[in-house]
Amino acid sequence: MIGDTIAAISTPVGEGGIGIVRVSGPDAVSVVACVVELSGRHGLAHLPSQTFRHGYALADGRRIDEVLVAVMRAPRSYTREDVVEVHCHGGAVAVRAVLEVVLASGARLARPGEFTERAFLNGRISLDQAQAVLDIVRAKTPLGLEAAVDRLSGRFSEEIGGIREEIAELLAGIEAEIDFPDLDAPVGDLEVRLDAILDRIRSLLDRAETGRLVRDGLTIAIIGRPNVGKSSLLNALLAEERAIVTPVPGTTRDTVEEDASIGGVPVRLIDTAGLREAKDPIEVEGVRRTRSAVRRSDFVLLLVDRSEPTCDEDRHFLREPWGIPGIVVRNKADLPERMGPIDTGDWSGVLDISAKTREGIDALSERLIELLLSGRIPSRNTVLLLDSWERDLLRRIAEGLDAARSALAEGRTTDMVCEDLRTAYRAAGELRGIDVPESILDRIFSRFCIGK
Ligand code: GDP
Repeated sequence: MIGDTIAAISTPVGEGGIGIVRVSGPDAVSVVACVVELSGRHGLAHLPSQTFRHGYALADGRRIDEVLVAVMRAPRSYTREDVVEVHCHGGAVAVRAVLEVVLASGARLARPGEFTERAFLNGRISLDQAQAVLDIVRAKTPLGLEAAVDRLSGRFSEEIGGIREEIAELLAGIEAEIDFPDLDAPVGDLEVRLDAILDRIRSLLDRAETGRLVRDGLTIAIIGRPNVGKSSLLNALLAEERAIVTPVPGTTRDTVEEDASIGGVPVRLIDTAGLREAKDPIEVEGVRRTRSAVRRSDFVLLLVDRSEPTCDEDRHFLREPWGIPGIVVRNKADLPERMGPIDTGDWSGVLDISAKTREGIDALSERLIELLLSGRIPSRNTVLLLDSWERDLLRRIAEGLDAARSALAEGRTTDMVCEDLRTAYRAAGELRGIDVPESILDRIFSRFCIGK
């Protein structure tokens, strides 16, 4: 137990059907008992665990809201401490007023993520489940949600636990060989076993890379001269009309940004203004923003109009070293072609589409997944959501195992092999949430919002 009693509003700020003040800690029941008058004969102190009662929240003896109170006694609660939830009427004022009386009666305002931190510290969830909770809250696409729920099952922790045990077994075997060299080799074929573990780690790293994309998403800039159909393409990719499409050149003067999902990966699409030699000061600003949009993107789609002959502006776009990968998309495939051959030297491909009829849009999405995700098709089985420090630890395990593997191959002393294996073993322990440095715990839980 961590000692004091904490409280926070656990529902989003703003108007809603209900707003919940959550209280957790040894005094949760008595703190809420002071500020809530329950209907019925029994006071809060006598309510059994997992019950729900009607009542009124009080401030200085005055009723401030009609509430429902839920009691979950330790250890049958989210934090494994006594937890009381006060369900108020939604609306910022009522919930806030209830929080204030709860705080005045002895609870402390919780830090961001503190409820989940307690759930972890009290052994109810593993560190990786705690992170899964955060990923569930933050999921941007259904696939992201699925992957987060999958992680909540604790499968990743189990897998790492298994790997850690295997490393321990190898270590014990090698140490036994050092101490009792006459024993039959109990470790089996060390190299084969090391390779098998390494394969598992590499597959986790690969899934984590897909997971990184699914969680963080990618930014794609759509560039090209005015009127080639950038806004139309943005809409086609979004499959809904958001940007204003007009036949007058240069109307998209600012950048329009929209969030979409391509194959389960959240992408931010930036529709840029044309890079024309602008005389109009607003358009000069647009040009500047196009360059800055490309600078903060991961990928660029250069759009050209294949129903018109190539012009200097197109050539300028084609030649410009944008510094990020991209493809050329020839739009207006529904019209007769008038564009001659184009030089797509450094571009990763050319594709014909019609933003108007949606011809080729699915092929474009598939090509994007191929290029952006190196062909990985994100799915429940290929996505693993990990934080960057966890990916680092996975890499450290792989490095330790790799080093042990080379030490073996080069016939170095068994002591050296053991040292490398110990590095891998420690990293696996950290990854399982054993001996995690406080700085990392702080970093994880501070990413949560207050009340979670
Ligand atoms: P932007 O200036 O590059 O953003 O271009 P818009 O998306 O505003 O499109 C300019 C004009 O081209 C509009 O009249 C669109 O309806 C038209 N347009 C866009 N895509 C296509 C297409 O695939 N086929 C045809 N026929 N017209 C298109």
